[in-house]
Amino acid sequence: MTFVITQNCCNDASCVPVCPVNCIHPTPDEPEYATTEMLYIDPDACIECGACLDACPVSAIEPDYDLDESSLPFIELNAVYYRDPAHQEYAQVPFTQPPARFWAGAEKLRVAIVGAGPASSYAVEHLLAQRGLDVQIDVFEKLMTPWGLLRHGVAPDHEATKQAAEAFTRSMRHRAVRVFFDVEVGTDVTFTELSDRYHAVLYGVGAASDRRMSIPGEDLANSMSATELVAWYNGHPDGLDHEPDLSSERAIVIGNGNVALDVARILATDVDELRKTDIAEHSLTALATSRIREVRVLGRRGADVAAFTTPELIGLREALGPRLVRSEDLGEPSPDSSVMAMFKRELIEKLPTRRPDTDEPVVVLDFRRTPVSVVGDSTVAALRCVPTGGGEALDLACGLVVRAVGYRSEPIAGLPFDLERAVVPNDEGRVTDIDGSVIAGAYVTGWVKRGPTGALGTNRRCARATVSSLLDDFGAGRLAGPQVTDDIAERFPSSANFDDWRRLDSHEKSTGRASGRTRLKTVTRSEQHSIVSARDS
Ligand code: NAP
Repeated sequence: MTFVITQNCCNDASCVPVCPVNCIHPTPDEPEYATTEMLYIDPDACIECGACLDACPVSAIEPDYDLDESSLPFIELNAVYYRDPAHQEYAQVPFTQPPARFWAGAEKLRVAIVGAGPASSYAVEHLLAQRGLDVQIDVFEKLMTPWGLLRHGVAPDHEATKQAAEAFTRSMRHRAVRVFFDVEVGTDVTFTELSDRYHAVLYGVGAASDRRMSIPGEDLANSMSATELVAWYNGHPDGLDHEPDLSSERAIVIGNGNVALDVARILATDVDELRKTDIAEHSLTALATSRIREVRVLGRRGADVAAFTTPELIGLREALGPRLVRSEDLGEPSPDSSVMAMFKRELIEKLPTRRPDTDEPVVVLDFRRTPVSVVGDSTVAALRCVPTGGGEALDLACGLVVRAVGYRSEPIAGLPFDLERAVVPNDEGRVTDIDGSVIAGAYVTGWVKRGPTGALGTNRRCARATVSSLLDDFGAGRLAGPQVTDDIAERFPSSANFDDWRRLDSHEKSTGRASGRTRLKTVTRSEQHSIVSARDS
């Protein structure tokens, strides 16, 4: 399935900035925009979130299955645009669809998938898409809820992105799929126990931990990772203890990737705006009494090479208006900066350097500062930094430091781990030993495979590559197949299943609606268990 731009297209490009994977071209900053007949959606990059559909003022965007007969050629027209070599550089996720394989007559393929986040969900989708393949997929998720970072990472005010869950739901509800919630692979069941019972064990467990800066003071009270803060405001059951102290006037976010912008925006957004979202209730309560008046986002490098993406910068500007300001020093533009980098820089240059006269929190984008220590006795009092490239140290007084310097995957029991890259070593998704030899039947996809980069939809292509390796191995008879024939479901009689999740999902949505919110998240395992166990009462 993909979304398709059709005849109504008025070229106003409202759809372009809201697309989370930039799959609509040409954009207003691309040369062809001035002369193009219409805009086009790349079907291989589209994540079916529907954000573009909502933004289009003329209802020109429709899902392909919904098109009138007369509009069907638009499916091809949108796709052909990206087959033109001149436009291939536009595609964020370049991909050539492998020819469909016909599987009739093959033995039933049994796959265990670890984790129910986007990476795993895309893998399920690709396995189910095989023609004639008799497949049984069992998904093991340690939480009581699916969707990983889509639920616990994507910012609460990015509602459109969360619509990707609808496509994931369609896959997970398939009769060939069973989901076991509250089952932790590595604790409740081992890799070996799974590999004895399935042809393949595929891990899509993401990157649950965070990178460290290794500077003095990093562990002072109220110096925390973005991973912790995001888990707290997104209602992750393990994030409840990470409540920040919001009683100081200035918070500093270290790093300026998209996660840093998410964090800054949430700390600076009016609580009445956040109240409409699915942000955790405990975070709303804390943010309502926040005394933070400045969130300073500290990047090491110059403006044209800032880690955040242009759409996210535009989104931040939209959210904060004049409350988004910048520091004076943007660094010299690099002579070999791309057109896109210079476009980003220009947007930054246009930001005001003077703060508006307001009591509301202001976000400052600060560039070319390298942190050297977090200063304080037991709790954060300042961040010491030096100008990147050298210069005098400066102490920026603050009461909260959030390091948004990247996620990090954790080693998986029973599998090798590349500590330097923080990924499971692999060859196109096949797990390998450090020496490169393949461990038969073990696969990885998503961030644990390639590191914590890319947008949500990037995982689609990544999962497709892993599933393709798995199917090649299955087709070539390289997978041993189940050695033990008992049904693993018997091991977890009290685990929750996908219907239980749907019950929890509707409970969250209906209680949310009752209070004017998109969803009221349940955040403790005990609450989730009690709602799910109501199935038996
Ligand atoms: P990121 O994009 O890799 O950014 C990490 C930031 O930390 C960079 O600014 C980096 O600086 C800085 N950094 C790293 N080590 C540092 C150190 N020791 N001291 C100071 N600064 C340091 O990572 P992220 O923001 O966690 O995002 C992860 C991925 O998720 C990205 O692909 C991102 O686009 C994606 N994401 C997307 C969205 C969205 O589309 N809405 C939202 C959130 C996340 P340098 O650049 O100088 O290395």
